[in-house]
Amino acid sequence: MVKIHNFAVFYILLAFQAGACFAMSDEAAVKSLHFLLARGYMEKINSIPTGKQLLGKISYISGRKARAWILPAGGMTGDLASFSYNEGVIKISSYYILKMLKLPAMSQAELARYLIKHKSAREFLINSTDIVIVHELVHLLQSHKYDYFFREKTVPQPIEFELEAAFTQEMYLAEKT
Ligand SMILES: [Zn+2]
Repeated sequence: MVKIHNFAVFYILLAFQAGACFAMSDEAAVKSLHFLLARGYMEKINSIPTGKQLLGKISYISGRKARAWILPAGGMTGDLASFSYNEGVIKISSYYILKMLKLPAMSQAELARYLIKHKSAREFLINSTDIVIVHELVHLLQSHKYDYFFREKTVPQPIEFELEAAFTQEMYLAEKT
């Protein structure tokens, strides 16, 4: 009798957990995805010498781990990835994520739930877009080193900023392949 009772409790707990998972709010789903992707990108980028060096410089100059700035699933259009100085984050366009994974149109929260559930899709995304994250991380580093050019909207950014980002991206790619 005691055994049956314990069994019943076990099932109730399972049902409750499944229910809690299903009822995850849109905001919680997007937050969970941000965490999973940020961790995935950091692991991947850290495994390549140029990436590791870049992350080290960012942590040193800012006193924070670069992971804090990666905020995947930005707007539905625009660039594949971009660094937003005002918000202090790197965003990846969900429009391109949907295209890359050959998925139909869906909301940010639906996409977040899909990527939380499908680990292989998440890994594919990270492996295909880590190079652009490296590019944007260089801009993030520049925003700490040369804050003035990012703060003053009227001041054009030097072309060297793009060259440095492109060059770092190329070195990373050469080491990756
Ligand atoms: Zn750039």
